[in-house]
Amino acid sequence: MTPAMHSQIVKRLARSIGFDRVGITHADPVGRAAYYRDWLAAGRHGSMGYLARNPEQRLDPAQLLPGARSVICVALNYLASANSAAATAADVSGGGAAAAAQPNDGEAAVQRAAAFGRVARYARADDYHEVLHEMLAALIDAMRGEIGVPFDARPCVDTAPIVERELAARAGIGWIGKNTLVLIPRLGSYVFLGELVTTLALEPDAPLPDHCGSCTRCLDACPTNAFPGPYRMDATRCISYLTIEHRGEIAPQMEPGIGDWVYGCDVCQEVCPHNTRAPATVHPRLLTQRLPERVPLEELESLGSAAYRRLTAGTAARRAGRRMWQRNARIVRRNLAAADGGGFLSGNAGASGPRDSLHRQAGAPPQTPPPR
Ligand code: SF4
Ligand code: SF4
Repeated sequence: MTPAMHSQIVKRLARSIGFDRVGITHADPVGRAAYYRDWLAAGRHGSMGYLARNPEQRLDPAQLLPGARSVICVALNYLASANSAAATAADVSGGGAAAAAQPNDGEAAVQRAAAFGRVARYARADDYHEVLHEMLAALIDAMRGEIGVPFDARPCVDTAPIVERELAARAGIGWIGKNTLVLIPRLGSYVFLGELVTTLALEPDAPLPDHCGSCTRCLDACPTNAFPGPYRMDATRCISYLTIEHRGEIAPQMEPGIGDWVYGCDVCQEVCPHNTRAPATVHPRLLTQRLPERVPLEELESLGSAAYRRLTAGTAARRAGRRMWQRNARIVRRNLAAADGGGFLSGNAGASGPRDSLHRQAGAPPQTPPPR
């Protein structure tokens, strides 16, 4: 069989396993290496030191697997429907917000319990590392069953040193938008990316054109001005980085922009016109929301070890430690208080931060470097 025939088999199998998109690229080093090095040199990766380790390997997928010839890139839609604040109040302690806000607790207690922090969409379902690894393992098995030549394959899901957005774009899955995320026609950007680096010779796909056009919505909406320009991301200013990746205290000047985001941020995806009609996922493990959209701050500020384990069980939200959740909750509390003019909230269960108009739905995955 020819590489083109193998590619057709791989794509059919990937779709049958449930991936929403699949594309193929060669295993040569990615372009724009100079940009990536400049990005690192400028310290835009902040305290994510792992991004600066082995940059040559990160840029060259063939270094992950001896003899690699192709990279199979997949995308999985994680957009779950119906995430209303009222229906999703967290029950971190077992009693939850409702128990903490009994009418006879007094007005102050009710107001405190009514304050919520928002969680980015990607973190609310089953941990995507697990979901994608399972699906990629199934793809390898299925390929071995149908492709009559021996091959090696290494699955990658976010944690491997690889510039996955660049590879996905080169494989024709989508284009890298001005918000540095991969945007997929008719699907948008609420997707998880995964890769199979393989020794199999496959026919590569052609990249897609950029459909951002003259739009600048994401650049204008970012609450912390994390975009120095289109297609450029300063991760040290991104709420996803600050709330999930950054250990220690957050610089006071960055706090107001965090608004009511207690874990991650979805703003630059919420405003993107390519997400307006994005379909909901059909994957059952991503439809089931383990974490609510809004978590009561009161529960988070006093988060004990057992409650933390319950809150983050089985989700990617365990990426942030217990003390980071507490830190984030304190910041959101201060932001809500400031937005309330010092009157400290007025019982709005969907309370938002100072940038309320920007916080309409939900979050971008932690920003891996934009290889642009
Ligand atoms: S995730 Fe939020 S903070 Fe980060 S770049 Fe997008 S809008 Fe800005
Ligand atoms: S909001 Fe506009 S500029 Fe930003 S990624 Fe979406 S289409 Fe591109």
